[in-house]
Amino acid sequence: MPSVVIIGGGAIGLASAFFLRQRGDFSITVIDQGPIGDGCSYGNAGFISPSHVVPLAAPGVIGKGLRWLLNPESPFYIRPRWDSELFRWLWLFRRSATEAHVTRSAPVLQALLERSRELTSRLQETVGDFEFRRDGLLMPFQSEAGRHECEQLAREAERLGMAHEWIPAERLAELAGTKVHAEGGLFFPGDAHLRPDRFTAALHRYLEQQGVRFQPETPVTELERRGGQVTGVRASDGLLAADQVVVAAGAWSARLVRAVGYRLPLQPAKGYSLTFTPPPEGVPLRPLLLTETKVAVTPFREAFRLAGTLELSGLELSIRDRRVQAIYRAAGRYLPALRLPRMEQAEIWAGLRPCTPDGLPVVDRVPGTENLWLATGHAMLGISLAAVTGELVAALISGAEPPVDPTPLRADRWR
Ligand SMILES: Cc1cc2nc3c(=O)[nH]c(=O)nc-3n(C[C@H](O)[C@H](O)[C@H](O)COP(=O)(O)OP(=O)(O)OC[C@H]3O[C@@H](n4cnc5c(N)ncnc54)[C@H](O)[C@@H]3O)c2cc1C
Repeated sequence: MPSVVIIGGGAIGLASAFFLRQRGDFSITVIDQGPIGDGCSYGNAGFISPSHVVPLAAPGVIGKGLRWLLNPESPFYIRPRWDSELFRWLWLFRRSATEAHVTRSAPVLQALLERSRELTSRLQETVGDFEFRRDGLLMPFQSEAGRHECEQLAREAERLGMAHEWIPAERLAELAGTKVHAEGGLFFPGDAHLRPDRFTAALHRYLEQQGVRFQPETPVTELERRGGQVTGVRASDGLLAADQVVVAAGAWSARLVRAVGYRLPLQPAKGYSLTFTPPPEGVPLRPLLLTETKVAVTPFREAFRLAGTLELSGLELSIRDRRVQAIYRAAGRYLPALRLPRMEQAEIWAGLRPCTPDGLPVVDRVPGTENLWLATGHAMLGISLAAVTGELVAALISGAEPPVDPTPLRADRWR
């Protein structure tokens, strides 16, 4: 039986293992430098959001980003440094931040996101409960600029035929199940959410029962190669031979494929979350995205989470207190009935989103190789897109008909 080694036990690596296992034709090993499910897939907001069809690279983002750079509590930050990979990424990002790119990419993301939501809901039936709920996503706004941003999103939703509804200020509390201080909101009834640590834990448990092997705490240091053929991975505990290798190493992926001569433009974008267990009084009934501050608010069954910020600071996970405080304070400004405990009582977490400059993931064979695959670059959509990515990886490796057109996700699109 051909062997597949998957580097990375996050949402993407685990979903890839799941769909490869469904095919039944492979012996599968998932290898991770840390515990399984402990990377960016652990403490994120858990949104499954077909509404997020506008890629990060969109017109106006650069201007807004430059203004935000001057404010230490804004949702965006770039750590100043001399880094040729960062410069290349910013240059490619600028090239993609056009209306034409949004028009091209939004339907691609819509197809992926909608398919993934359905697959994720079915996954829960197979692997066990991970708190998947289809409660929609409410985006309250407090300013003219926020309303304008929602109008742009609504126009895109209209164009793509995606269900959405304007909610006047007086109906916000009824929909959110708690008082909301805002001028109005945009509601996407088709969005869903899940508890991300339970998602990866359920997949991990199920896959172990299905005979998938796991090697946690085992960093891969090198890819063994003969010409265009990768023959295995060298890890801290020795060489692991493989017929196929999938790099699903999130923000760390670029380093691994660089060794085979492929320069993947990928930047880690740090974000933080604060988790309160048990949930405090006044939490909303359904997820919210606070438009002006970009803070995600997620109620789980036994906890409550706030998440946000995007920092291009490199591969490091230090926690900047001012940004965490900005997330904490934003919640109070929009949700006056929320009785948050002191910030110190929250579990504070940082994660690195793997971001490509055009806002679309890469799911493809690495150029110049025959059997090395990349599944990364999901930025703020890795949980939303995990299932469809896994399905696509399994189809590509098996040589089966891909479930979606993989062309926009090709690895050679920046050449
Ligand atoms: C604050 C925040 C909120 C977010 N909210 C959402 C949301 O609501 N919805 C959504 O869809 N997405 C959200 N995201 C994005 C989402 O979390 C990521 O896109 C997703 O988790 C990426 O999954 P991954 O499997 O690619 O990476 P990871 O989960 O980071 O997994 C990669 C794994 O590879 C391992 N690895 C790396 N290098 C090596 C090596 N050399 N050897 C062995 N193992 C290695 C790492 O240890 C890690 O476990 C959010 C992110 C943040 C930071």
